[in-house]
Formats: sequence, structure tokens, C-alpha cells
Amino acid sequence: MCKVTWCNKPAVGNYCSIHIQYKDWVSNAPSRPWLMYKLEKILDGKGATCECCGDDLKARFPHRELRSVIQGMDVDHINSKIKGTLEGEQPSNYQLVCKYCHLWKSQDEKDFVNKKSRSKAPKDIPGFEGTMDALDNLKLKINTI
Ligand SMILES: [Zn+2]
Ligand SMILES: [Zn+2]
Repeated sequence: MCKVTWCNKPAVGNYCSIHIQYKDWVSNAPSRPWLMYKLEKILDGKGATCECCGDDLKARFPHRELRSVIQGMDVDHINSKIKGTLEGEQPSNYQLVCKYCHLWKSQDEKDFVNKKSRSKAPKDIPGFEGTMDALDNLKLKINTI
């Protein structure tokens, strides 16, 4: 079965015929599952459209190659607190956004944390330190329950 957590397609090797295409677009996707979401959007032809402000960067920069335009797109964890958990690493918690939307969301969240609990603000929202293997283990657990 495909190693992408939310994918149930049969795989040849580690990935299905869709997700194996990460090699062409987002080479570090195996350690960053959210990039598989970006890949899906790219393959759908929506890789340059911001899901937050609706901006189509391909239309804005028609002279740039798609490959170059999509590098300006980030995958945002809608609820960043569950980043790195099985629940948090699902398409339902992802949105493909432009650099500005991502930047401003990060700034707003930081402001929010600072205002709310300046003295005990978490040093960092825990990042995703695991790999696809960690997610795989979770997947296995769930499948065997
Ligand atoms: Zn797949
Ligand atoms: Zn945007």
C-alpha cells in the first residue's frame, strides 16, 4: 500500500502511481508528508492557486515556468498545534497557500501566542520531527486496531 498516510492505493515499491511522481516535483516529500498534498494539487493543475486568498500565481507570472512559480507556494497546517500527529498530517489540515498568506498567518499566530501568554509562551510550536516511517507506524497501529 502507498506510504502516503491518507492514500489507500496499491503501491509499486513505496508509493502509488500518483504519489511516486513526487520525484518530479517535490523531491523531499518522503520526509515532509504535506508536500504530497502539494504534489496532488500540482497534478490537479491547481499547484499555483492559493487556497487562502485565491490568487493564481501562474496567471500573475505568466512568463515564469510552473516549476518556478510553485516554489512560491507553501503548505500550511491549518491547525498548527497538531502538526506531526496523524490527525494533523492529513489533507483536511492542509492548505496550499502563497508566501504572503503563509507569512501573515505565522505572524498572526505568533502575535496571538505572545499576547495571550507572554510569560509562558511555548518556545516553539513543536515541529514535525518524524519521517514517513513515524507516520507509517501510526498508520499500522490504526490499521491493526
Ligand atoms: Zn498514494
Ligand atoms: Zn494567498
